[in-house]
Amino acid sequence: MGSRSTAAIEWDIPAFVRSVITSLHRAGHEAYVVGGAVRDLCMNRLVNDWDVTTSASPAQIPSLFTHLRSFSLKHETTTLVHKGNPYEVTTFRGLEQSLEEDLKHRDFTINAMAFDIERSVVIDPWGGRKDIGKKVVRGVVNPEGRFREDPLRLIRAVRIATELGFQIEGKTLKAISSMAEAVTTAAPERIRDEVIRILLCKRPSQGLDIMKKTGLLAFVLPEIAETAARKLIPRELMSVYEHVLAVVDRVEPGEVPRVAALFHGLGEPRSTDHARTSLNTAREIMARLCFSKSMIRQVVELVQEQEALADYHPSSSNGDLRRFIRRVGAENLETLVALRRAHLMSLPKGTREPLHRLNELEARIRGLIKMPLVRGPQDLRINGSTVMEITGLPQGPEVGRILKHLSEVLMDHPEWNTRRKLVAMVKKIHPAALPEHAEGFGEFHGTTRRLKTKAQPKT
Ligand code: ATP
Ligand code: MG
Repeated sequence: MGSRSTAAIEWDIPAFVRSVITSLHRAGHEAYVVGGAVRDLCMNRLVNDWDVTTSASPAQIPSLFTHLRSFSLKHETTTLVHKGNPYEVTTFRGLEQSLEEDLKHRDFTINAMAFDIERSVVIDPWGGRKDIGKKVVRGVVNPEGRFREDPLRLIRAVRIATELGFQIEGKTLKAISSMAEAVTTAAPERIRDEVIRILLCKRPSQGLDIMKKTGLLAFVLPEIAETAARKLIPRELMSVYEHVLAVVDRVEPGEVPRVAALFHGLGEPRSTDHARTSLNTAREIMARLCFSKSMIRQVVELVQEQEALADYHPSSSNGDLRRFIRRVGAENLETLVALRRAHLMSLPKGTREPLHRLNELEARIRGLIKMPLVRGPQDLRINGSTVMEITGLPQGPEVGRILKHLSEVLMDHPEWNTRRKLVAMVKKIHPAALPEHAEGFGEFHGTTRRLKTKAQPKT
């Protein structure tokens, strides 16, 4: 066991956290900064959130802070809100209701330290600082027991190690491997949050690889684990799994792009049905892990539109490109192209030819979005009344169809969006003979892309 006291430390504890602890002290309770905050202070890292542990009971805590907005999701924890930030005050964990007992019930030694603000000392009975020095994540006391108590800790260990760039200590790692299946009993929302945090790390591949080696991946994301047995391209060594990990590392760290990168290869190696396979599987996985509907939609669109980018050909017209931009939304273009670039860059050398085509497409898109895009009839310089005046048509769907047709024509000729030109066009229109308009390259209908009739391997 480590020591209880060392030389006084000068740490910058926020005034609000100090005031919370002082209020608890004045009411006769013990109170300490605890957990991740102490770890981050020891490591000189920015503290994410501040947690306080106290001898005060769950009923006593809120009564001391009636002047603050507070709520309680788990009944032993009171969350105090200060300037919009949450601060968690929790009653000592464990039966004994002591600080030592509380720390013993925390997950890893580096998270099982407390800071006494009055004496400015770290209380570190399990050698957290030593393990920080060694850069290891080690279960407190016996790892198996800890993982049995709360199987989420199995994946938390991986996430914390990946975030901090630490190794998981040998016995702890063995315990994870032998108990991996227990992770399936943790709440899916909690697993989802840990997976997302792993994906947001600088190098998510490190975390995913630990999950793979310990067997966690086969229980949390079996569809991804299985891709290790599939080759990305015939006659090449790289597996789909290796490719996916490389893409995840390469793509910008945001939730949607990183999750999309993780799922973009599910349909590999390519067949006629690969687009549908990857989208359906991605949807299934995200539903199982309780991702929000909006997140599922964004990820699926991003994966789906990768196919549109693969369809791009230099002969595509500017009108086709504008229709594509309109369909995917100008705000999504950057992420879309970045994911495609990460994909192409992560292909085996010698199979990367399409990269210059993507660069060309990106340059063309950049040029096109500088000009205002006509999204639909709402952006025309004339409206329905003008059309009715010119054509003598009564109010109704015909007028709408004419406006829609004009806006489609402007996809190819945005410079025609002047009142004079549009009036001239309306005068020449035969409402009964309006042509059909396409959706731009990589066209799809609803959420199911029109699939190619012939198998066509794409890179
Ligand atoms: P960060 O806030 O940077 O994500 P953290 O370590 O503070 O990291 P929190 O989820 O905020 O993580 O938890 C605060 C503290 O509560 C942890 O440091 C740890 O001591 C304890 N803790 C959290 N979750 C568990 C768990 N599942 N089992 C045991 N202890 C836990
Ligand atoms: Mg925290």
